[in-house]
Amino acid sequence: MSMFDKNISQEKLKSLEFAEAAREMEWKFPSFALKLFHGSLDLGLIHPFPKEDPEQKEACNEYMVKIEKFLRENLNPDAVDLTGVIPPNVYKGLADLRAFALKIPIEYDGMGFNQYSYNRIMHLVSSYCGSTAVLLSAHQSIGVPQPLKLFGTPEQKKKYLPRFAQGAISAFALTEPEAGSDPRNMTTTATPVDDGKAFLINGQKLWCTNGLIADLMVVMAVTPPKIVHGKEIKQITAFIVEGNSPGIEKVHRCTFMGLRGIQNGLMRFNNVKVPRENILLGEGEGLKLALMTLNTGRLTLPAASTGIGKWCLNVVRQWSTKRHQWGSAIGEHEAVALKLSFIASNTFAMDAVTWLTSAMADDKRRDIRLEAAIAKYFCTEVSWKIIDETLQIRAGQGYETASSLAGRGMDYWPVERAFRDLRINRIIEGTSEIMHLFIAREALDPHLSKIKPLLSSRVPLDVKIKAALKMAAFYTVWYPPLWMPSFAGNDINGLPQPLNKHMIFVQQASKKLARGSFHQMVKYQQKLESKQSILNRIVDIGTELFAISAVCSYAAKLALDGQANAVDLADSFCSDARKRIEALFKEGPNNNDAQNLKIAKKILAKDFEWMENQIIK
Ligand SMILES: Cc1cc2nc3c(=O)[nH]c(=O)nc-3n(C[C@H](O)[C@H](O)[C@H](O)COP(=O)(O)OP(=O)(O)OC[C@H]3O[C@@H](n4cnc5c(N)ncnc54)[C@H](O)[C@@H]3O)c2cc1C
Repeated sequence: MSMFDKNISQEKLKSLEFAEAAREMEWKFPSFALKLFHGSLDLGLIHPFPKEDPEQKEACNEYMVKIEKFLRENLNPDAVDLTGVIPPNVYKGLADLRAFALKIPIEYDGMGFNQYSYNRIMHLVSSYCGSTAVLLSAHQSIGVPQPLKLFGTPEQKKKYLPRFAQGAISAFALTEPEAGSDPRNMTTTATPVDDGKAFLINGQKLWCTNGLIADLMVVMAVTPPKIVHGKEIKQITAFIVEGNSPGIEKVHRCTFMGLRGIQNGLMRFNNVKVPRENILLGEGEGLKLALMTLNTGRLTLPAASTGIGKWCLNVVRQWSTKRHQWGSAIGEHEAVALKLSFIASNTFAMDAVTWLTSAMADDKRRDIRLEAAIAKYFCTEVSWKIIDETLQIRAGQGYETASSLAGRGMDYWPVERAFRDLRINRIIEGTSEIMHLFIAREALDPHLSKIKPLLSSRVPLDVKIKAALKMAAFYTVWYPPLWMPSFAGNDINGLPQPLNKHMIFVQQASKKLARGSFHQMVKYQQKLESKQSILNRIVDIGTELFAISAVCSYAAKLALDGQANAVDLADSFCSDARKRIEALFKEGPNNNDAQNLKIAKKILAKDFEWMENQIIK
């Protein structure tokens, strides 16, 4: 059955159900983004823009000076790129700086930085050396420290957390050759032995960053199934595993187009024995752990993307003034000038989104699963466009390698390396396509949770009737106001013009988005899950609305702090984003998706194989 069949295939349904079982069901705290998707602008949840904790800020400032000095004096990113090696003295120096214990609490000898400060450090390191940033981030954003801090028992914390201050490096092993985006395909097993006191892990893990040098790893493996309503339910469990455990075979070091210095590879687990007490969170809770870890773990990528965006701005500003062609500096030609403006205003937007979501993660009074996913999706997509435009402005010298530029005495701006290093961000920690699905699922949850009991064959009739009545009562109150104009007046939470007018737009567009999503839910019901073109537009509109909101609040804060022209950048970003939103709304009912999906079906059926001619295959 092809993916375009009207009914979702059984296999697809099973994967969706599997992912669904790992979802966080409850919304314990409010979510600004969730409300936006449902027609309500609750600006008070993000505005005034959160302030950095003063103590953290001071400590982080000091730390950033130290790590920058260390990196400048000891690490040559081009040499890392050429040789594929981060030198041993750099590992040692980073360990001495306790760079592997940035978020570890002080009581365990760590630096005790919060998410905001940690992201500031990652932002700085990313702007200098992608491989080093990923070494630190794979370890601390998704590796052992983060889930251990979140879900570890007191004994586990006491045993493992202090090791990171000594420089222990960790990794996160989820992906397998056949299990990329879809964890249901996982085949690595953890079989109970010794009366269940221990497990034997067998299988393969692929593309595990830091895996080849890790002292500790979080390894996801399939444990014995649970039986629910007579059906076997696959269980995935997370284990803390010592990197030097007998039976771990480091089969192959993978090399990539960028991030040449990372120690990433294929690993085989042959009867690797792990005690039961090394389970994190609980047996069968591995996927939930991965998703919850990523809620904050994902925020490093926005910070890293923003660091690169600012670096690009620095490069193109200098180069566009210096390089003269056709009688003027290239920055004075309109085509280049518009790129400069795009780079600056979009970097500003990434900055706003990054620091807003980082602060939200520390605040802990907001549900940030949607905001973190939006931040990851938005910043990795935008930064990719930015590096592409930066390379275009640098043109031939953008395509030339840094060592070649240096070899002929030219300006040193390693755009080519940054371009290669950055590309992976749209793939790791959830591809952009999976982020679309994740955001759509969470954004539509208030509808889905109401409809679900009506669609389930296991729910008795009287419960269904009750659910239907409750649903009718809810929608009678919720739906009509979505058609009403907003009476926000001229002042939303004291935002100055032109920011205020952009937020009035957000208020109206949020209602339109909520109406549109609801209509699609009614039209397609359960089948909406496979209507990705519809879901993607819903998500893209919500993402832009979130970015506009973050940008307006951030610009208002910066203006108050004395950076008045931040409002110009905000205005430029918001005006462009509004045009994109309007285009997406128009595309909803008026697009060529059906035609293009037919073409795709024919491609898969080899109808256009004749096109693949006169090439060397
Ligand atoms: C440099 C690097 C570092 C990595 N580090 C780690 C790590 O530390 N730990 C770890 O566990 N893994 C790691 N990974 C793995 C990474 O997380 C996966 O590459 C990623 O999850 C995507 O899986 P995949 O590459 O197998 O793509 P696939 O899942 O095979 O997807 C292929 C394409 O299909 C799309 N697609 C898949 N399913 C759907 C769907 N339902 N709807 C729409 N589109 C879909 C995808 O978006 C993608 O475009 C790393 C990978 C690389 C390259």
